[in-house]
Amino acid sequence: MLGFVLDEMFDSASGHRAPSGHPERPARAHAVRDALVTAGIADQGRRIVTRFASDEELSRVHGAGYLDDLIKRVPGHTGWLDADTYFSPGTWDAARSAAGSTCQLATDVLDGALGQGISVVRPPGHHATRDRAMGFCLLNNVAAAAAAARARGAARVAIVDWDVHHGNGTQDIFWEDPSVLYLSVHQYPFYPGTGAPTEIGGANAKGATVNVGLPGGCGDLEFAAVFDHVFLPALVAFKPDLLLVSAGFDAFEHDPLAGMRVTHNGFAAMANRLRAVADRICGGRIVAVLEGGYDLDGLAGGMTRVLSSFARPAEPLPPVAPLPTHPVARAAIEGTLAAHAAAGVPIAEAATSR
Ligand SMILES: [Zn+2]
Repeated sequence: MLGFVLDEMFDSASGHRAPSGHPERPARAHAVRDALVTAGIADQGRRIVTRFASDEELSRVHGAGYLDDLIKRVPGHTGWLDADTYFSPGTWDAARSAAGSTCQLATDVLDGALGQGISVVRPPGHHATRDRAMGFCLLNNVAAAAAAARARGAARVAIVDWDVHHGNGTQDIFWEDPSVLYLSVHQYPFYPGTGAPTEIGGANAKGATVNVGLPGGCGDLEFAAVFDHVFLPALVAFKPDLLLVSAGFDAFEHDPLAGMRVTHNGFAAMANRLRAVADRICGGRIVAVLEGGYDLDGLAGGMTRVLSSFARPAEPLPPVAPLPTHPVARAAIEGTLAAHAAAGVPIAEAATSR
C-alpha cells in the first residue's frame, strides 16, 4: 500500500510562509495536495500521522552547533538565514514536521508496513548541509530519512535527486559515507555551483556520489539517457535496501527558475524506471520526497504522475534510451562515466540488462 505525507500544515497560512513574491510558497504544496486529492489517488493509500523529527533524527545529519543556532533564531520569528532562505513564525514546526514525517514514512516502507511512499513537504531540504541552511532549505529531509533507515537496519540506502539544482547538502552529509549512494542529475553550471562529474565521494566513499550535470535546454530524452546509462546501472550494482527520490519539479519545461524542458511524461518516465528498478533490487521499497519546483502545473502534474507510477505494479523497463545527440549533454554522461572509471570505481554498463 502507498503511504503519504500529505498535510495541510505544509501549505497553511500560519505555517512556513514566504515573504510576498518568494517562489518557495505555500501554494506549491497546496497545488500538489489538491491534485492528488482531485485525482482520487490519495484515497488509495494511507496518510501517515505528521510528526516532528526527534533530536536524534536531526543530529544524525546536522551538527549540534547548527541545530542550536536554528533553535535560537527561528521558532516564532521572521528573518533570513541567507539571501534566499527565509523563516516565518511557523517555519520551525513545518521544518521539523517535514523531516520527521519523511523519516517515519521511510522507515514504515523499510519495515514493509507500506509499499511505496510520497512525502509532500516544505520547506525543501536538499541544499541544507550538515552545518548550513541555504537555497530555501533548513533541514535536510531526505538525508534525515536515509539516516533513519540506516539506523533502523538498512545496510545501504540510495538517493536519486532529479531536482534541477544539485543537492549539495545531501552530497555534503554523505560525502564520506559508503552506505549511502547519492545520484544527482542537474543543470550545470547552475545554482549552487557544485555537482561536477569529478565529485565522486570522499576517500572513504569513492564512487558513492554520482553527478551528471546537463546543459540548459535538456528534456525528457536526455534525462532518460542519464537514468539508463548512469543511474540504473549504479543502482543495480549498489543493491540498496531502500530507494529515496529527491523529487523536484523545477526541470519542468515552464519552470520560472531554471532552463530545462522536462514534461509531465518525462517525470513519469523517470518514476517508472525507478519503480521498476526498485522492484528488482529492493522489494519495490521507494519513497519520493518533494524538493523544488516553482511552476504549479509542473508540481501538480509531475507529482501526480510519480504517484500513479508508484501506485501500480512496476512496468517492464523500456528499451535503453540512446545517448543524446546534443553534444554537450552526451559529453556530460560520458564525462561522469569516465570520471568514475578513472578513479577506479567504474559504473558498470553491463548491469543495464533489461
Ligand atoms: Zn531545485
